[in-house]
Amino acid sequence: MLNTLGPFLRRRVFWIADAFRRPSVRSQLDDIEAQLSAGPKASAVQSKRLESLLTHATATTPFYRAYHGSTELARFPVIQKRHISDHRGAFESTVYAGQPLPVMSTSGSTGMPMQFRLSPLKRCRQRAEIIYFSELAGFKLGMRHANVRIIRNKKPLRYWMENQVLFDPSVMNEPWLARARKELKHPAMVYLTGYARPISVLADYCSRKGDKPGMFSLRAVVPTAEALTPDERRDIESVFGCPVFNRYASQEFGVLAQECRSGRLHLNTASYVFELLALGSDIPAPPGQVGRVVVTDLFSHAMPLIRYVIGDLAILEADPCPCGNPTPTLRELQGRLVEMILDTNGQIVSPYVLVNNLREVTGITQFRFIQRTAAQYELMLVVTPGFEEEERVVHLLRQYLGQEANISINRVNEIPPLRSGKRPYVINEYLKDSLREVGRVTPCAPAP
Ligand SMILES: [Zn+2]
Repeated sequence: MLNTLGPFLRRRVFWIADAFRRPSVRSQLDDIEAQLSAGPKASAVQSKRLESLLTHATATTPFYRAYHGSTELARFPVIQKRHISDHRGAFESTVYAGQPLPVMSTSGSTGMPMQFRLSPLKRCRQRAEIIYFSELAGFKLGMRHANVRIIRNKKPLRYWMENQVLFDPSVMNEPWLARARKELKHPAMVYLTGYARPISVLADYCSRKGDKPGMFSLRAVVPTAEALTPDERRDIESVFGCPVFNRYASQEFGVLAQECRSGRLHLNTASYVFELLALGSDIPAPPGQVGRVVVTDLFSHAMPLIRYVIGDLAILEADPCPCGNPTPTLRELQGRLVEMILDTNGQIVSPYVLVNNLREVTGITQFRFIQRTAAQYELMLVVTPGFEEEERVVHLLRQYLGQEANISINRVNEIPPLRSGKRPYVINEYLKDSLREVGRVTPCAPAP
């Protein structure tokens, strides 16, 4: 009988159970729907919620006590992950002291894991955000779906209830790929989400095995956490025969934005206030220019996240999206900062230019490109025997990086995954280091 419990029944069971929760996921889902469809009217609610969060933070957290009486967001300091890691206790609200709240931990892909506490309302909000944005991509609760992510807590019953199949990408070997491919071909499997790069590897594997769109029932692929190259995106769409909708999400927050059919990222202004600040200073980026994405979480009451630098660059779109959705959009989310490269003049070079050029060099099977300083770069290469194209590669890269670029080539047997399990093509150690110095914050004294 259990096996015949279809998506409809699963959905019913979820919502019946939810009706007994306080707060309920349903109440948050209704709120998100109402806010994101309200157009300009939503901004009054957002302002009220922001004021309430700032008042709460200044009244109940040691760090924000110094800002007591201020309800103007721009007066609050811009916060980096390290500020919270170094003074976590000072950011926690005394309202929740002693309460056994769930503690979440970021994956630490930038080398600095961070722990933070979530209130029951925030947990519900996060679940509601996932449901809302998944539905936008054509997925309904209870439908069979696959999630590619590193598994920390196995709760088989919950995954079964949600009809979710987990692919842990820690080891992406042949048996892993074969199992994932088989699961994806299940006739009821309609939706694939999770880390972008393993999804891309999986699509490539299916393609090499000769799979065609008709062999899958997938309706949407929603990659998170990493930027896809246009090639990877095209390959995924062509092998699985369904659209890709990029999702911009983070463990600190939840779902921040998701791509629509017009290819723009719609911001989740129901839950967050977004600012784009200039590179190297905390003033707003001029309209149409690249800025650092800075987020305030309207539902982060247990540990307020106010003007938090998330580590991405983007450009805010000036005109409404042709898809009709009234929420503001980002024209370009230029990848994780650690996945972008600057030339020797400090101008942004699209990582895709480097990726596409290197792909055309015969004999390179894998690579990772790292910017070390303003003009020092390292290229890790896995090559086939007899490869002697180093000089040509350096010449090719200097066309984009500048003739002064100091490029060292380092042959390796394998490109190692990061601690998070991700395998980025491009890493910018230089930007990572310089951005650490941007926020000018003087943490106040720890709690008495
Ligand atoms: Zn749109």
